[in-house]
Amino acid sequence: MKYWPASYLKKIKEMQHSCSIAFNKNLIDTHSGNISHGDTASNEMIITKTGASLINLEIKDFMIAPIEVNKISYLTLTEEEKKKERKEEEEEEEEESPSSEIAVHRLILKSFPNSCILHTHPETAIALSIKNNYKFRENKYIYNLEDFNNIYCDKSKSANEYENKKNIFENSKKIETGEKEVYKNTAALNLTNNDIILNNLNTISGLFKIYPELKILKPADFEAAYFFPSIYIFPLSFIEDIKSNNKNNINFKAGGIFADNGIFIVKSHGCFAWGKTALDALRWTMMLESSSRILYMLED
Ligand SMILES: [Zn+2]
Repeated sequence: MKYWPASYLKKIKEMQHSCSIAFNKNLIDTHSGNISHGDTASNEMIITKTGASLINLEIKDFMIAPIEVNKISYLTLTEEEKKKERKEEEEEEEEESPSSEIAVHRLILKSFPNSCILHTHPETAIALSIKNNYKFRENKYIYNLEDFNNIYCDKSKSANEYENKKNIFENSKKIETGEKEVYKNTAALNLTNNDIILNNLNTISGLFKIYPELKILKPADFEAAYFFPSIYIFPLSFIEDIKSNNKNNINFKAGGIFADNGIFIVKSHGCFAWGKTALDALRWTMMLESSSRILYMLED
């Protein structure tokens, strides 16, 4: 890649900066993690190459890949320049495969165009995702399908309790339309896989239907809870499903389950965070790790 447009170079600089901080903050090791920045207008994403070390990223560690594979990708180059470049690259026989997690980056970019996506391995968040028995004295911060089902049971006993408890799973941003119907009964748990891509559905129910082992982290600290009232912990198979194209029709925006600034955890693996800039994605990652550490301190 010889002719990087100026706007891409600016994004690369931001990504280099954020990745070196991510390493210093122990969010990645020498060769883990990856980062991308989408440019929807040109159907392109700048992404780190497979095997790139995020410690000290150089321009050669980045490449351009199409966001939607079936669309034609183009750069702001003349045809002549593109041809010349292709020839040079063939001669140099450069390693040109993008990060192996490109499918996840693509999926997030489909719902949140022009975002920067950072994938890291924050250790406390990972430990929290693996753990099964949490010992919180005062409050519960990690919920599973059983907790979710119990909320529905509570409704038949006490409408008030139900009203209070259901808020555990929703936040003001998420409740827009269809919320009342969705909460009427447990039939929501019988949703099909396709329901997750539809708007106005209780997508939490949809997610539990597909991934019964899903967990939901409710940050205890004010800062993280303010930005992310719910942080989803997906099983490892979630990534495999995306890679094998089983879940490429997921719309992360559906039902407001994620927003322009988002983060989720993949059990025993790491997290994906995104925002308008690389620094945003780094911020959410650091926030998650710090929030996870706080949760560990709160355990008995
Ligand atoms: Zn990883």
